[in-house]
Amino acid sequence: MNYNKKTINDVDVRGKKVLLRCDFNVPQDKVTGEITSDKRIKAAIPTIKQLLDNGAAVIACSHLGKPVATFDGFVKKQVEKGKKAEEVTKESWEKSLRKLTLAPVAKRLSELLGQEVIFATDTIGPDAKAKAEALQPGQILLLENLRFAKGETKNDPEFAKALADMAEIFVSDAFGTVHRAHASTAGVAAYLPAYSGLLVAKEIAVMGKALENPVRPFVAILGGAKVSDKIAVINNLLEKADTIIIGGGMAYTFIKAMGHDVGTSLLEADKVDYAREMLDKAAAKGVMLLLPVDTAIHDKFENTDQFLTVDTAMMPDGYMGLDIGPKSVRLFTEAIRGAGTVIWNGPMGVFEFPAFAQGTKAIARALAESGAITIVGGGDSAAAVEQLGFADKMTHISTGGGASLEFLEGKELPGVACLLDK
Ligand code: ADP
Ligand code: MG
Repeated sequence: MNYNKKTINDVDVRGKKVLLRCDFNVPQDKVTGEITSDKRIKAAIPTIKQLLDNGAAVIACSHLGKPVATFDGFVKKQVEKGKKAEEVTKESWEKSLRKLTLAPVAKRLSELLGQEVIFATDTIGPDAKAKAEALQPGQILLLENLRFAKGETKNDPEFAKALADMAEIFVSDAFGTVHRAHASTAGVAAYLPAYSGLLVAKEIAVMGKALENPVRPFVAILGGAKVSDKIAVINNLLEKADTIIIGGGMAYTFIKAMGHDVGTSLLEADKVDYAREMLDKAAAKGVMLLLPVDTAIHDKFENTDQFLTVDTAMMPDGYMGLDIGPKSVRLFTEAIRGAGTVIWNGPMGVFEFPAFAQGTKAIARALAESGAITIVGGGDSAAAVEQLGFADKMTHISTGGGASLEFLEGKELPGVACLLDK
């Protein structure tokens, strides 16, 4: 995978129409549909401003939620949910679509930019075409939710071409969807020269460098719930890192592989052999693999101050590990302290329970104080770092949960591969 891709700094956009794929997949209030966080809209502003200031006419587009693009598809979904097919109406389908219109995003974007955002009520239909045609340098148009069109997620070449036909340049700035081969994330690049926006450029630069040419020692910290979610990540990072730290729920499958009992902790019995293989691979490659040496345990999955802390080699029956213990924190912190690059994916414990957020908090602090290049990937890890107040202390917090995971797996991401090489 080549991470050396052209960005909007490598192209003259003056007088050009630019199709800009944004991530305006904002959280909304379930009842009122109101935008509950405009973080993603704010994040898009620097790229949009740079394009507009440099004289481009910007045609912005995004998906929002998971609308079902056809009435037949909607009926099928409702039947799966237990509704009778004959009870499902066209009106309820249209109502479900209306909830996912990007019109409120256009309004918020306009407030943030301090200029009008023209809104098209379709994606490649007559309204979008006419408004794109008339668009002047310095103006911005937002198309309606891309997933209202059935060609988007199917990466239908005709839909991609119709999107591309409105513009002369494609700019990809929605990192959260670069692992998907959709019409607006990859398909359009078959018809337009493709560049990264500032958000995607930073993701590729920081994470690409960490994987390709990291400042060493390179420490990878993996946690979270399941080994099965992160198999490919562990395997890829074993090829690159000097030290791998494993915490969180997935650590217990490794502890089991080392021959210890883990009580009622999260355990993927069918992954124990794989964990053993990874331990052997680490040893063979000279990668230091650190596991928790102690753990906070409780007999129920709940928040409590009445938990016990035991060595992981001596976990009693009927108890589950819900966080790493203080000795593990010391061991892990020591490894992080000397690092040149740290990648962190997955919390160390059930951080949603305050009593079991200690390990995650301590690791976040260790990263913040390490002086290393620190990269946080993964939705829950990013949320934990923000919730604990360490967000501005990290070099980079990846905005794409699934995308950053696939990045760390070393997979080719369609939305990155399609960009022009430098
Ligand atoms: P990310 O989104 O950062 O990639 P994951 O989705 O893989 O992280 O995992 C996050 C989840 O893992 C959290 O909901 C957390 O509660 C859970 N988790 C962490 N440690 C444990 C544990 N010891 N037992 C059960 N669940 C855990
Ligand atoms: Mg997650």
